[in-house]
Amino acid sequence: MNQALYKGKIDFMQKDDVLRLLRDPNLLPSEKLTLLSNIATQAETLGVPCYVVGGFVRDLLLGKPINDLDVVVEGDAINLGRKLVEVYGGKLTPHFKFHTAIWHLPNSTDFVDLITARKEIYEMPGALPKVTPSTIEDDLRRRDFTINAMALRLDGEGFGEILDPLDGQADLERRVIRVLHPRSFMDDPTRIFRAIRYEGRYSFNIEPLTLGLVDSEALKVLHMLSGERLRHELDLILEEERAFQMVVRVASAGVLTSIHPKMPKFNQEYADYLEMDIQLDVPADRRSMGFILWFLDLTEEEIFSLANRLDFSNQLSLDVWAGAQLMRSLPHLVGAKPSEWTYALEKLPLLSIYAVYLISRENALLSYISFWRHVKPRTNGNDLKAMGLLPGPRFSEILLKLRSAWLDGEVTNESQEKELLAKLL
Ligand code: ATP
Repeated sequence: MNQALYKGKIDFMQKDDVLRLLRDPNLLPSEKLTLLSNIATQAETLGVPCYVVGGFVRDLLLGKPINDLDVVVEGDAINLGRKLVEVYGGKLTPHFKFHTAIWHLPNSTDFVDLITARKEIYEMPGALPKVTPSTIEDDLRRRDFTINAMALRLDGEGFGEILDPLDGQADLERRVIRVLHPRSFMDDPTRIFRAIRYEGRYSFNIEPLTLGLVDSEALKVLHMLSGERLRHELDLILEEERAFQMVVRVASAGVLTSIHPKMPKFNQEYADYLEMDIQLDVPADRRSMGFILWFLDLTEEEIFSLANRLDFSNQLSLDVWAGAQLMRSLPHLVGAKPSEWTYALEKLPLLSIYAVYLISRENALLSYISFWRHVKPRTNGNDLKAMGLLPGPRFSEILLKLRSAWLDGEVTNESQEKELLAKLL
């Protein structure tokens, strides 16, 4: 066995228990276990100590299914990646600056992050850290919370040993989220969102001293973060099952106004719709739905200012703006003819319309989504050309009138459409 550089205390959970968890297919599918063992074999061949870290270990010890594999190597991660590709195939994307690599597995969209154990130094609050290769222990010390700062050894006889220099297991037992040092949120205030996410997801508590570190100094640093970084954290929160509670917690920690003075609370009446499955044919994602609902009662000006601060994509800005706009114009549309509804809605994203339907239960919106938007006259531009009409604005006018007649029930079959067309011509 290769000697790991780390020599601190190990054992809290016995190795046999860990091995049992690793072999539980409900936690780790067997192909992932094989993958781990393949990585372990190659690390052993190269003589580099190798670990899975972070969320993998946390979720394994909590007995929760495991998502991603983050592998840390006390040695060159790119080198290990090259070896893995040579032996098992797939593709490697190396990042030489950070000594990391992504191993894209063969015949799969899955990948493994390979990281060279490193030390991080934050020279300026909120800025990205300076990175130098180091030991697994230093690598664990650069992490956000004790429960995320554990490693599980993969190579050689050490397979299955837990490295827990910061007492993550004890905090898992106590169900607390605890930072590793008092400057943690100053170094990287995105950790405030991460703490709230883990707290909500696992029904843990942010440990009081840690919570106390979310102070005006940390919020000042948070205020300076880029829109992209902040939005990414909010995206991750919106993806969570308990997103609404997490946003409430973010608000009560005073974080929302540090992002932007106009950042609203999440309206509790809208919260349930985050959980709603979308059965209709509406392209949906939780993040967009989340932001549409969150900003539904804002003015156009507020939305543009927030979209700018949070670096929204054009599509997301449009989704959010359209939701709020429709919400405001709804009272003026009630009682309109189906054709009027359809032309008013047609340029708006379906997801925004669906969100407003969920809140308002206005049936016309549902009719538009499931039926009206698909209504087209049988006659098309080619037919009009064949009748000797020259293409031009009159073309679209005629087609629009035919479509309205179908929508409003004035035409219900092809021969009625022909009659109407003859009249129009
Ligand atoms: P999740 O289930 O939310 O994906 P995860 O632990 O896999 O949890 P990642 O965001 O994938 O979370 O990060 C992997 C690991 O990297 C974390 O477990 C943590 O150790 C470390 N980490 C991630 N973000 C930070 C950060 N901002 N500061 C310090 N360490 C971080």
